[in-house]
Order: sequence, then C-alpha cells, then structure tokens
Amino acid sequence: MTKNSSPTNPEKEVCPTCGSDLSPMEETPTGKQLQRCSQGSWNPETKQVEGCPYVKWIQPEPEVLDEKCPKCKAPLVLATTRFGRKLKKCSTSGWDREKKVATGCDYVQWLTGIKEELDEKCPECGKNLVIMTTNRGKKLKKCSTSGWDREKKVATGCTYVEWINESRSKPNGDENFPEHEA
Ligand SMILES: [Zn+2]
Ligand SMILES: [Zn+2]
Ligand SMILES: [Zn+2]
Repeated sequence: MTKNSSPTNPEKEVCPTCGSDLSPMEETPTGKQLQRCSQGSWNPETKQVEGCPYVKWIQPEPEVLDEKCPKCKAPLVLATTRFGRKLKKCSTSGWDREKKVATGCDYVQWLTGIKEELDEKCPECGKNLVIMTTNRGKKLKKCSTSGWDREKKVATGCTYVEWINESRSKPNGDENFPEHEA
C-alpha cells in the first residue's frame, strides 16, 4: 500500500487546449496511464479521436533499484518506455533535448520475458493464464503451463496463446496521442 496523494498539486487540472475538465485516468492495453480531455473520446471504429485531442500521459516515477550500474556504480532505475517495454538503466543517464543526445552513463539492460499472472483461466486446460512481454515489446497471453524445451527446441505444456492487439493505443504511430511535454 503506497500513499500517492500529491499535496503540492491540489488544484483540479484542466485541459490546456480547451479548458475543459480532464477525464478520469484510464489505462492502455500496454499498461500506460493517461488522462484524456473530457471533451475528447477515442472512437475505436474510426480510430480517430473525436472532439478535443488533448491527452496527458501519466509518467510513472522510475523505480530506483537496489542494483548498481556495472559501468559507473551509480544505482540503476527501472523505466518503462512509451511502448510498454521495461528496461533497467543507469540513474545518471539523461537526455539533452536541445542537442538530442543522451547524457550521462549509457548503460541499459532491457528486461524481456516478464511474466504477469492473470486472474483468467486458460480456455483449453483451465489453468491460469499469464501475460508475457516479448523482447520486441509485444504482449501475449499464454497458459502458465506452457514452457520451452531448449534442448529439443519444442514448446512444452499447453499451447494456448492469445496475442494482445495493441492497435487501439497506437493506430498510426502516435499521432493521435501526442505525448504531453511538460
Ligand atoms: Zn480539451
Ligand atoms: Zn552507469
Ligand atoms: Zn492451458
């Protein structure tokens, strides 16, 4: 349980584009959180934002890890890209917006194959499903009994797989969801 109130920001936020209230926070299929302008809504059929297009992405604070950077010994932080990929990177790393170059230490370690237990049952065998993130950032649901035999190079256990379609969150690149630059 973490208390996450922000006493420094008690004001109600309004859309900087049109001045309307912001809608409650929602989550994309990739697990990113955003607040849309209450005057805008995503139409999954036309894949267009109707009304005000303002979207505020909620950037989770990078989590400082209890691990040290192998290059410079600074602590590592856990970060998530806007495409939902997770990585560990050096806390001294940064980005120079003017020069468009990375600054600080460039150590990065991509996290792949992260499993997340689901409260859903496999339609084939009734065991729990898990969500996996591939090293290309795609997500799939698969049966928790499934595995991979490295020696024989064959899948083991239940073969049920369901790819999670993420087209709703990024139909043509990110044009419809301009990331809010503070
Ligand atoms: Zn608006
Ligand atoms: Zn470092
Ligand atoms: Zn199964």
